[in-house]
Amino acid sequence: MILLLLSSFAISQSHINWSFAPKIVICKNESQTKHEIVNKAKKYWQARGYSLGDITEKKCDKEIYSYGEIRFAGERSLDTNSYFGLTNRGYANGNVVSGYIQLANQDANNLELVTHELGHALGVQHNDIKSDLMYEYHMYENTDGF
Ligand SMILES: [Zn+2]
Repeated sequence: MILLLLSSFAISQSHINWSFAPKIVICKNESQTKHEIVNKAKKYWQARGYSLGDITEKKCDKEIYSYGEIRFAGERSLDTNSYFGLTNRGYANGNVVSGYIQLANQDANNLELVTHELGHALGVQHNDIKSDLMYEYHMYENTDGF
């Protein structure tokens, strides 16, 4: 209950949200993240009230943002010495309309990391709860497949 309240407070405070359910796209030519890992991350957020569309895998072009899609785009321009993962969002009229997730290849199937970054793509910000997946300095154990 407390977690839920804090979580929704953080979301309403930040005023960033999708106004429709984003599709999830795994860019097959760049991302090493597996469909089943993304599906588990999707279920995590669905269980917390977020709407998400189907997961598809396709070859992506070099375009960063694609309207209506959260893309798993591989490492691309990610500084893998500094980051495990990085998420950018695109906005229109105050809503999130696209997401762009880069994950270091070595961490591409770390479920906690995939779930954390998918949370950012949905508009979820960091929080101060050390045990929470959205804590800024969350330690990513190798949880491939929890
Ligand atoms: Zn983060």
